[in-house]
Order: sequence, then structure tokens, then C-alpha cells
Amino acid sequence: MKIISRAVSAIIAAAFTFSAYADNTPKYIFYFIGDGMGMGHVLAAQTYNRMVLRNADPLLMMQFPVAGVATTYSASSPVTDSAAAGTALSTGYKTVNGMLGVTPDSAAVTSIAKTLHDAGYGVGIVTSVAPDDATPGAFYAHVPHRSMFYQIGRQAAESGYEFIAGAGLRGTKDKQGNPNDLTDYLRSHGVDIVRGAEAAAASPSRRILMLNTDSLPDHLNEIGYTIDSITEPGNLNLPLITRTALNHLQRVSPDAFFMMVEGGNIDHAGHGNDGGTAIKEILNFNEAIAVAYEFLLQHPDETLIVITADHDTGGMAVGNAFTGYNAFLHYIDAQRMSKDRFAEECRAMLRSRRNYTWDDMRDLLTEKFGFWTILPVNEKQTESLRQKYEKTFELRNSDDQRTLYNTFNEFTVEVFRVLNDIAGIGWVDTNHTGNYVPVYAAGHGASAFAGIHDNTQIPVLILDAALPSPARLAFPD
Ligand SMILES: [Zn+2]
Repeated sequence: MKIISRAVSAIIAAAFTFSAYADNTPKYIFYFIGDGMGMGHVLAAQTYNRMVLRNADPLLMMQFPVAGVATTYSASSPVTDSAAAGTALSTGYKTVNGMLGVTPDSAAVTSIAKTLHDAGYGVGIVTSVAPDDATPGAFYAHVPHRSMFYQIGRQAAESGYEFIAGAGLRGTKDKQGNPNDLTDYLRSHGVDIVRGAEAAAASPSRRILMLNTDSLPDHLNEIGYTIDSITEPGNLNLPLITRTALNHLQRVSPDAFFMMVEGGNIDHAGHGNDGGTAIKEILNFNEAIAVAYEFLLQHPDETLIVITADHDTGGMAVGNAFTGYNAFLHYIDAQRMSKDRFAEECRAMLRSRRNYTWDDMRDLLTEKFGFWTILPVNEKQTESLRQKYEKTFELRNSDDQRTLYNTFNEFTVEVFRVLNDIAGIGWVDTNHTGNYVPVYAAGHGASAFAGIHDNTQIPVLILDAALPSPARLAFPD
């Protein structure tokens, strides 16, 4: 397979190892990608941080000294998917939605993780969703479609990267559901497959694939939302994954490393138009950033942190038609579960033999979302909820809402519409948008990230900072 590289060729990069340039390039690079994290998501989380948590300081990412915005359109659409956007952010090439690590004509393109790995950097690729998902996959895989999980898994094995982590691998079974050779293939490449952070810390292996401790079937491709996982101790979470990866890279590659950290659940909450869950995911992502920032403070001259998003999901906004010139984000604290989890509960209720009544459901809405006690649900909203309840649970005639990751019954959709309305959270749709995404940077080389960029420029700027100019001048793009 012909491999095109936006940056220096891997072979040349290997000849110029980082050690020769240690004094003037960042040795430690953190690349944070909030999947679906549009400008509105960050601002909603900051509004919550300011008005509800009453923190005088803005979110850590907003305190970074350098900020900018990025355009995200793909080769096939003004509205990108995560595969094309991941490819742009990892290789500097635009591609067609759905394609991963290849150009529109299927030529493989080199990720900056690979270039840096060949130059001597240890590499960690971690996410709060599946490690074979589009965003992490863009840093090691080349496939014509993002759903080719078996091939993506094999290429993870072949990458040589030191640490890969996420919820669960999806390519380990064939179409009949029988285990295939992927697990063995990973092991044959020296990858220790561990479950949970403690097992990762205890592993002597140079190469680790860390998966969640408890991959419940329904959560196989994600570690669960922050808002839900509070009740599941032992589960991985993004700050823990980030810290575990950092500890591992410091052990096996103390002189230089590159880490990509994806906040994958932000996108899932966005697809569901689940405002409270999205805000809590942004705060969780911000905590993962704090792990890297702590490291930066200890290694200020040698560390670069870049934060961006692959695209905006849902066009989230502070303010909507219902609240007018206001928003009441404190109401999201009454929310005890995500929309996905609530939809699951509804499905269980629909399957159960028990005859639920509207009064039962009212109690549940009060308990899980504070309806009528904390949230001032008005008569019109109550009537609409009751009608959708009847349609979904009694007539069994729900007009379902299908999104990329879930199907929500009409009642669930109405519950969350009421929640968003009362809290003052607006949404454009349940898909991605072509909105700008934010870019933040701190540390060595950060100034290059100020201003307006296309997403394809971001990996180029990271390599510009990391690799020496002689190699780059010798191989102009
Ligand atoms: Zn998405």
C-alpha cells in the first residue's frame, strides 16, 4: 500500500531522533480531541461552571494562553463525520465521510502518531469510547470504512504503539459471534490486554491495550457517561485513563511521548440532544486535560498541549425559544441519568409484564429528573408528556427518534425536550453540524495554534513544533 505522508517520511524522521533536538522541541505532546465538542458545548459547560458551580476561574481549557477556531468540513461534505475529521486531525488530509486514514482515492496517509513513534516518541492513544472507533483509529488505521473493526484491530496490533485504551474492542468476533484470531494477533505483537487501570499499572509489558473492567453488553462501545457511571465504581473514566496512560508512557518512554486523548462520549450525548449529560462530559474531559496540565507545570519547557474537537454535534447553545433571554442550568443537577440510560429503562418497562401507569411514570420523572418538584414543569408540558406516555406505553405506537447511536421512543424524546426547554439549552439537530470548533494550546510551541485554522493544519503544526526544521525543509509538502 502506498503511504503518503503530509509531514516528513517515517524513515527520515527515524534518522533524526528526538534526542538530537531535545532542547528546542517539545518532548511531551498531548493532543486532546473532544468528539463533537462544538463552541456551544464548551460555553454551556463554562456557563454551568460560572453560574452553578460558582467558580471564578473559567474551565481550564479556556484558561490556556492560546486559543483559536478550526473549520471541519470533509472532502465529501460541509458536515464531517468522525472518520473524515479524525483523518484530517491525525494526518493533515481531508477524506470522504466514513473513510479512515486514507485519501478519497484510498491511498493510506500517515498519522502524526506514527511519524512521532518512528522518531522515538512513545505513543498512547486513548478514548472514553471504543479504541477501534473512528477518532482513535485515525491515529493507527487505514481502512476504506470506519466499521471494519477487525482490520482496525489488526492495525492497532501492527502499530507498535505503547498504550491504547478504551471501553471494548468490537472486532474480536466474526459475523456469527464466534471469537476470531484478533486477540491472539494482538498478543503475538507483544500487546498485553488488560482490564481496568490497576491491571494496567501492574503489567510489566511495554505494550498495553487497556479495556474496561466490566464490559456490559449494552456498554461495550463506551465506558458510560459521567452522569451514569457515578453508580458504577471500578469503571474506567477519562481522567483515570489519561493518568494511567501517562504513567505508562513515563515508564516505557520517559524521554519523549505523544498522547491522543479523545472525549468520545461528548458526541454521543450531543446526538441524543442530552444537554445535562453533555455538560457533565465536557467537565469530565476538562478533568482529563487537568492531568496533562499538571504534567506541563512540572515540565513547562518540554510539554505541548493542544485541545480541539473533530466537529460540532447537535449545534448546542445556551438559550432557547422557551427561556428566551435566559438559561437555568442549575436544573441539570436534578438529572440523575442520561437519555440513553432512561431509554433503556423505558425499554425494560415496555418488555415487563407489569402494568405501569402514568402515575408510576410521574414518580419516576420526579425521582430521576426532579420534574414538578425541582423543575417547574407547566401544565402544557405535563399534558404533552402524558400524551406521549400513552402513545408509547399504552398504544405502543411511538414515533421513534433514530440517531447514530440509539433509538429513542417518543416519550423519552419529550422528556428531554422538556428538560432542555426548562434549563434553557438549545439544539439544532441530532446530527453533526459544520460549525467552527475551538482550539486551545499551552506550553512549548503553543503560539502557532492561535487564530483560524482548517483542521488539516493542526497536525502539521504539531509536527512543526516537534520535529526539527532540517528534516521538514528537506521534505517540503
Ligand atoms: Zn458523532
